[in-house]
Amino acid sequence: MPEKYDLHCHSLASDGTLTPTEVINRAKENQVTVLSLTDHDTTSGIAEARQAARIAGINLLPGIELSTTWKNKTLHIIGLNIDPDCSELKTGIAKLQTKRLLRAEKIAEKLTKKNIAGAYDAITKAAGKSMITRTHFADFLVANQHVTSHQQAFDTYLGQGKSAYVSIQWAELESAISWIKNSGGVAVLAHPLRYKLTASWIRRLLIAFKEMGGEAIEVVTGRSTEQDIIISAKYARDFDLSGSIGSDFHSPTNVWVELGRLAPLPADITPVWSKIDL
Ligand code: AMP
Ligand code: MN
Ligand code: MN
Ligand code: MN
Repeated sequence: MPEKYDLHCHSLASDGTLTPTEVINRAKENQVTVLSLTDHDTTSGIAEARQAARIAGINLLPGIELSTTWKNKTLHIIGLNIDPDCSELKTGIAKLQTKRLLRAEKIAEKLTKKNIAGAYDAITKAAGKSMITRTHFADFLVANQHVTSHQQAFDTYLGQGKSAYVSIQWAELESAISWIKNSGGVAVLAHPLRYKLTASWIRRLLIAFKEMGGEAIEVVTGRSTEQDIIISAKYARDFDLSGSIGSDFHSPTNVWVELGRLAPLPADITPVWSKIDL
């Protein structure tokens, strides 16, 4: 049986809706054999996922999706096969977690000015120990009938430039890459087409990313069209980067994205897993 990879997904540790165990079991049902759990700015789901993966017979690569800022742009960097116990990584993540909490307070303040009160208390309570993300705010806005969908929550309040948007300096790109590398992991630029960068900005980014030690880009995601894969594969080729594939699964309620439901990596692209001791 060939391996089936999914190297990007989320659990309740950040903005997914399934526990790490449920993620593993769902991946198993979908015949995934190699999975990376990559929650936003936290590794708190990894221990549980490891245990569930052992039982399910899935090869789990400990992962993370780090929030970074490069030239005023927010970029997501996946760390694959990281060591969650690495102290440099832990210190870096802790800083991001503080930023997330401060940003949540500021978002809530902006919502209050729009006559939407109580978001911070409701969200910190609902999130518990999970990372607080804008997805939690979107849930809150839908639950309290301020909007009818996540999309509307982002379009009206949470998206860049909207009334409750708070811009933030996440980790420096270079720092995030070195935390990943120094913990034994491989740094992957997540969903390269989602940043809406022009061709010349993508070029600048991929050159910088590679110089800083980045090794791969996501060529296939759960929502990639054929054309998206062609474009991303060309980036991988042109800048001599390996390719990763990951669904970015968050929740079974999003029927468009499923664990393991991914187009294959184009045959001439070096798979990122060739750089990892599986
Ligand atoms: P954050 O990292 O807290 O800024 O939150 C970003 C998360 O919000 C992403 O990982 C997505 O899961 C979600 N997200 C971003 N944009 C949208 C959107 N337009 N609609 C729905 N979810 C979104
Ligand atoms: Mn997310
Ligand atoms: Mn992302
Ligand atoms: Mn993600």
